[in-house]
Amino acid sequence: MSTYLSEADAGKRIMSRCDELGSISEPGEGVTRLYLSPEHRLAAEVLVRWMQDAGMDARIDEAGNVVGRYHSVNGGGPYLVTGSHMDSVVNAGRYDGPLGVLTSLDCVAVLGNQGRRFPFGIEVVAFADEEGVRFRTTLAGSRAVTGRFGEDLFAAKDANGVSLPTAMREFGLDPAKVHLAAHLSDQVIGYVEVHIEQGPVLQAANLPVGIVTAISGQTRAVIKLKGAANHAGTVPMGMRHDPLLAASEIVLEVERVASSFPNTVGTVGSLKTEPGVINVIPGDVSLTVDLRSQADCDRNAAFAELGAAFELIAARRGVRLEIDKILDLKSCPCAPSFISQIESAVEGAGVRLLHLPSGAGHDGMAMSELTDIGMIFVRCKDGISHSPDESVTTEDVAVGAAALLRFIENFQGNQ
Ligand SMILES: [Zn+2]
Repeated sequence: MSTYLSEADAGKRIMSRCDELGSISEPGEGVTRLYLSPEHRLAAEVLVRWMQDAGMDARIDEAGNVVGRYHSVNGGGPYLVTGSHMDSVVNAGRYDGPLGVLTSLDCVAVLGNQGRRFPFGIEVVAFADEEGVRFRTTLAGSRAVTGRFGEDLFAAKDANGVSLPTAMREFGLDPAKVHLAAHLSDQVIGYVEVHIEQGPVLQAANLPVGIVTAISGQTRAVIKLKGAANHAGTVPMGMRHDPLLAASEIVLEVERVASSFPNTVGTVGSLKTEPGVINVIPGDVSLTVDLRSQADCDRNAAFAELGAAFELIAARRGVRLEIDKILDLKSCPCAPSFISQIESAVEGAGVRLLHLPSGAGHDGMAMSELTDIGMIFVRCKDGISHSPDESVTTEDVAVGAAALLRFIENFQGNQ
């Protein structure tokens, strides 16, 4: 049994706080709350206050994360970490990130009200920078928590040329102390995150929540094709070396190959032609391939199959091919013991089990360097995210909260 007296009330409380936090934004449509901005500072201060109201020791850490601790029966750790991120993309919705933070906070508030403590403490974290919009570097907050706030972050600059260390000082942080945000691995016994799905699978299955199996790995590549630019009127069809026709076949090949592997998706998101005018056969085409899968072996096999297919296409059409792999990010599996404990919690909430991978990145990728991770997805309307139209229902949020609370109450870690 969950200790919620009324799960519906929990849903309402969490939704109303998502609204309140969502009002802390740069002017404009939706929510815009970027790392180390005045809005970030304001949101962090509100979260510290809410965490303190819930009986937690709370502070803004050296990287700008908000960290609240609900101590164990022994008055300290180790801690089960739960939360999500408080930053947003530009013109975002109210739930991507804050839903996980505020659901975790509500679970602790319920436990605090009942004076219940466990052999382990609970730490609620609102990560400062998951989206990486301002400095084009992702997971700065969770990387700080895992002790991996590296040189690439210190060297980063925003679009106005403000360096990340300068922005930290303007926020009131000392960049030289960022290492103090790192958690000791023996003080952390796991990380669990509630997050909106950001996809259409739960809605199609008519389910409020789902169990994440892994955060998918990613391969990204830039494909360049060089043919022969020439007059659109004078070169007969059979005598052309048109790289755009090769690219067209490549786009369809990405769809075919990605569809042939389980839990794998492939996307061509950008395609550019040169010179790109109506009366010239293109001479150069570049396109991007983004390939994701929860299984690295599937992703690697799919990418190899694509490479071989692209070469055949290019050779047949007489164009030169260059494949430049720009990202190779391993899949981050959720721990089997967390998956089974989340299954029990979701079943306990009376919901049929559905497992799905996360095609989007999350703070869990960084946290997995430190500890075991698990994730619970909450259905969002039409799978829409990174948009002011992002929408969840109070009822689904209540189910997510009940599942997280059951998970915490029954948590068996290695403590
Ligand atoms: Zn997110």
